[in-house]
Amino acid sequence: MFKVNQNYLRLPGSYLFSEIGKRVAAWQTEHPEKEIIRLGIGDVTRPLSPAVIRALHEAVDEMAHEDTFHGYSPDLGYEFLREAIVRRDFAPRGCKISPDEIFVSDGSKCDSANIQEIFSPECIVAVCDPVYPVYVDSNVMAGRSGALDTVSGRWERIIYLPCTEENGFVPEIPEETPDLIYLCSPNNPTGTAMTLEQLQAWVDYANRVSAVILFDAAYEAYISEPGIPHSIYECRGAKTCAIELRSFSKTAGFTGVRLGYTVVPKALISADGVSLHRLWARRHGTKFNGASYIQQRAGAAVLTEEGQQEVWDMIDYYMENARIIRKGLMEAGLTVYGGINAPYIWLKTPQGQGSWDYFDFLLKNLGIVVTPGAGFGPCGEGFVRLTAFGSLENTRKAIARFRA
Ligand code: PLP
Repeated sequence: MFKVNQNYLRLPGSYLFSEIGKRVAAWQTEHPEKEIIRLGIGDVTRPLSPAVIRALHEAVDEMAHEDTFHGYSPDLGYEFLREAIVRRDFAPRGCKISPDEIFVSDGSKCDSANIQEIFSPECIVAVCDPVYPVYVDSNVMAGRSGALDTVSGRWERIIYLPCTEENGFVPEIPEETPDLIYLCSPNNPTGTAMTLEQLQAWVDYANRVSAVILFDAAYEAYISEPGIPHSIYECRGAKTCAIELRSFSKTAGFTGVRLGYTVVPKALISADGVSLHRLWARRHGTKFNGASYIQQRAGAAVLTEEGQQEVWDMIDYYMENARIIRKGLMEAGLTVYGGINAPYIWLKTPQGQGSWDYFDFLLKNLGIVVTPGAGFGPCGEGFVRLTAFGSLENTRKAIARFRA
């Protein structure tokens, strides 16, 4: 008689996006004549850049010939990509990461969900509130969460780091001591980013208490201000306490191509003397057979001079949307955060309305779909998330509706 992993049964349904879908579909059925603009989407809309398209075509052609065909990729990823990553993403920022500390994957959602596997089930996890839900759910599945308190919406064994208006959406060091600390900067959903000083304080703390920081830098390419670290390895001592997760999805429009990587420094050793690099290499080799040669060639194209220029143009396009949203909402008298170093705008609901009430109000009165902040955690209540990933035309149209 088989039994299931009971931890999965603890998880509430993936309520947020299905509920949004349901409400939008119901409204559309009742009002088929009304045009809806989606400012809630977390997916990109711009096509892949010419250098990437060229690399994809060339790689596909190589696969057509016996002498240039590629099968399984090396465990850690192709060297041409790992070396390009070091050259572009780390060396210019003074981060001494070596290519064999980089593990290429097919995206950072899997990495951010899987990384907890190499840690003891006893580990205490700390997450920001609001938070990218994958960090929490993957730890619930692994049995680290304890029970869900349905009133507070919090798991009993997870430490929550409130990110609020009062603390500028920057998590503060908790009273209880965690073992695993998930940080995401620039942040999804709040769109805010930590300064080098703020991140350094976390690195110092993690080293002091022998905790590991799992640093999600999926949105680093959107940083526009000085003083905001693009990598946690810009902080002193980070190589002994931090793993960094990176993605090509939002940087280069790879949500459909799939490519990411994780950095596990060799200097990162657990309290019981085990190299996390060795464990992650073992896990990667056992459970993952590599991103395809084609994906990795496309990734390498992103990291060329030409590819970087095209990526910056794409990011400029989205960040112009972010600027339009921020400015438009502020001029409409609303309070907004984020949207300067990230493609997300965190809008405070007027008159203390609940996230879902304001969601309904925007849908029914302006035909605009946003994401209710409460879906990212209790501290997201009273906010909604808007994204800059739509088209310029739709973004302008949506903001005109707000103003009107
Ligand atoms: N990390 C964060 C914070 C994200 O918001 C996302 C995607 O929305 C991801 C990771 C996932 O990226 P990928 O497409 O590489 O799986």
